[in-house]
Amino acid sequence: MAEIEKALDFTEADLARIRADFPILSVEGRNGQPIAYLDSAATSQKPQVVLDTLDEFYRFHNGAVHRGTHQLGDEATSLFEDARGVVADFLGVKDEEEIVWTQGATAALNMVAYGFFAGSWEHTGGPFDLKSGDEIVFTRAEHHANLVPWQLVARRTGAVTKVIDLLPDGRLDLSHLEEVITERTRVVAFTHLSNVTGAITDIEPIIEAARAVGAVVVLDTCQSGAHLPLDLDSLGVDFACFSGHKMLGPTGVGALWGRRELLEQLPIIQSGGSMIEDVSVESSTFLPVPYRFEAGTQPVAQIVGWAAALRYLQGLGMDRIAVHERALTAYALPRLLEISGVKLLGPTDLENRAGVLSFEMKGIHPHDLGQFLDSLGVAVRVGHHCAIPLHKFFGVTASTRATFSPTTTFAEIDRWLEGLPRAADFFG
Ligand code: PLP
Repeated sequence: MAEIEKALDFTEADLARIRADFPILSVEGRNGQPIAYLDSAATSQKPQVVLDTLDEFYRFHNGAVHRGTHQLGDEATSLFEDARGVVADFLGVKDEEEIVWTQGATAALNMVAYGFFAGSWEHTGGPFDLKSGDEIVFTRAEHHANLVPWQLVARRTGAVTKVIDLLPDGRLDLSHLEEVITERTRVVAFTHLSNVTGAITDIEPIIEAARAVGAVVVLDTCQSGAHLPLDLDSLGVDFACFSGHKMLGPTGVGALWGRRELLEQLPIIQSGGSMIEDVSVESSTFLPVPYRFEAGTQPVAQIVGWAAALRYLQGLGMDRIAVHERALTAYALPRLLEISGVKLLGPTDLENRAGVLSFEMKGIHPHDLGQFLDSLGVAVRVGHHCAIPLHKFFGVTASTRATFSPTTTFAEIDRWLEGLPRAADFFG
């Protein structure tokens, strides 16, 4: 414990201060104690500054953006566009116009996937001109959001889907990349951090293989965004997606980041108001990137609230958050593995994993275990976590998942782990 304390960048006092910023952390669980919230991979809790920002926006600044003839519209527009700069800065993106607002990560991934679909019948001739027989590569570890859209696009275009398979511990098996990524590969889509195994992808070999054949690289950055320092400009991928609600921000907001030269060629899927330059009854012309992708009224308050969340994360320091969560994982993982009947779905090596611990407990259905832990005031996620192929790979239909965040404490981990043998006694 002393060694872990040393590695822990947040002191006890820091952690207490951080936790005090999150009103929900004092909500009582079913056992009368504050809930130990170990489900931030599903959705993160929100600090007071985000709640205040939403409240202030609606109290003092609410107005339609980019329609600027009145004071409120001007203020809303400034906050909305400033937020784009905050997101770009947080993600290490110099050109803030490469940030496109979306409803979340699922919407961002669909925006790219359906760009290929539209490209296939518009015959754009560019990188999105997908042809029958072309190949779309994703991995067996994907969240359904980075898998199902690609299947539908393949079905509708005659393209073929191929899969990067897994090592027994759920990490990607990169030893056969040249067989999976070929001259016909047009897109390679994969997760940066698995929402089930916690494995952090070694992205360089995949990018290298994709670059060698001119394929577009799409990274699902949903789980890494709030847990690892990111520098998208230097990461080498072409597109990345983000989910505001997993990054201490409100629901209903996220972003697609894309390299400008690709965004400029990406076919438009959603159209209507706010994204046009001129319209006649015969045809329309469109605004430049990123506005051409932002049809309709955007979730302005949520966007402004998300920016407040990212400033808050920056204030804590992404490096410090990563160190904190690593220390929590180093504490939890060996203790979890010692518990009789536990089978981990993911790598045991701490080097390339994050604080996402999914496991099976022999003889107890994850839903029963989740309910038992809930009775102890511990919130974990149960089910397939939108990753059925990955669960099938491990030979299970569901698992229990505990995930860590900047507010997680060792005491919360203890409460969770102590609940597991008690559950075994109760159900055994
Ligand atoms: N990708 C991963 C890895 C996820 O964990 C999730 C959400 O659980 C998503 C995509 C979908 O994100 P959103 O809720 O923003 O649509």
